[in-house]
Amino acid sequence: MIKISHLVKNYGSFCAVDDISFEVAKGEIVGFLGPNGAGKSTTMNMLTGYLSSTAGSIKVGGVDVLDDPLNAKRLIGYLPEQPPLYPDMTVEEYLNFAYDLKGCKLDRAKHLGEICDVVKIGDVQKRLIKNLSKGYKQRVGIAQALVGNPPVIIFDEPTIGLDPKQIIEIRNLIRTLGREHTVILSTHILGEVQAVCDRIVIINKGKIVADELTENISRAVENTRRFNVKISGPQREVLAMLRNMSGICYAEVLAARDGDAYTYMIESDVGVDIRKKLFFTLAEKKWPMIGMEALGMSIEDIFIAVVDKSGGERQPAERKKSRSIEAGRAAAEKEMADQIIEKTAREAENAPAEEESAPEGKYYEDYTPASDSFRADGGDKE
Ligand code: ADP
Ligand code: MG
Repeated sequence: MIKISHLVKNYGSFCAVDDISFEVAKGEIVGFLGPNGAGKSTTMNMLTGYLSSTAGSIKVGGVDVLDDPLNAKRLIGYLPEQPPLYPDMTVEEYLNFAYDLKGCKLDRAKHLGEICDVVKIGDVQKRLIKNLSKGYKQRVGIAQALVGNPPVIIFDEPTIGLDPKQIIEIRNLIRTLGREHTVILSTHILGEVQAVCDRIVIINKGKIVADELTENISRAVENTRRFNVKISGPQREVLAMLRNMSGICYAEVLAARDGDAYTYMIESDVGVDIRKKLFFTLAEKKWPMIGMEALGMSIEDIFIAVVDKSGGERQPAERKKSRSIEAGRAAAEKEMADQIIEKTAREAENAPAEEESAPEGKYYEDYTPASDSFRADGGDKE
């Protein structure tokens, strides 16, 4: 649905977006993640035709954004970082204005009514936009993007500045939209992409450094190999038993003590889920297991590792973690970060430079839910 190839943006001698390529399939929700200044807004502004590119091509639904901006923009609803709201209009006036501007042909009352239901702004229709809370303003911005029912929706930092409850509401809304639309959202908050996106594309200093399915990352993070197990029983014998047990490749006792119970850190062999066997073995020995905690990696740390590494500037010193368990976790996170970076680099190398374009005029039937639903001017803002 969206294909970005070798896109570059220079501001004078400064390269803000440096030869990035990625694709978004129809119906996918992709999170565009990166620290502030990474080049997210610049990319989204080029993608939506607000900004010209220095080099490269962008296609939306087979339409080249640079060659045919009007038709490309008809396929896109955009919520920029600063929502383009008119504070002295009421919500109702503003949405009607967006409807006229886009030359929307859908039944006006029904279409705008449906949008207001989806984004839950029905109760503020008559209010002036300047008197709304930040959360409501953001929803009005989203409503504006939905006018004309475009198949592609692009959100630039949609939850920035909202309170935690509003953040959850907007995330739920984006997930709902993802059922019927192709969505790209940018954010510098990792939890956000993890919560709503099928795929994560990470940009740092203008380059794409990772492109991975969210579920792959989550699966790696929730590994079932390392546990802290709290066992009540004679420490030395318990430790000896753990070390001799088949399926466990590593065991050590941690300093913390709770009555007659000690906590042991264990690691199982690859592909072995040791939990049930461990439970029954301990039960047989009458050494009650009174706690078990999986030691997954932290997804934050994996991404900090990705960004640190790809940025070319290492942190002055490796973070020193005192306990070996922490060190093991940090090593696993670094390994994961390496894998993500390598895989993305490999795929980028294999990416074709150019591809055939979709047949002229065909994209409309393919990508527009109600095919004559918008004959918009597309809001050409330049
Ligand atoms: P993000 O949205 O990821 O925070 P941006 O795309 O806004 O990042 O900016 C990427 C880089 O380009 C930043 O270093 C920013 O300062 C720079 N930049 C953005 N817009 C301009 C501009 N119009 N002129 C010069 N530099 C710019
Ligand atoms: Mg930005």
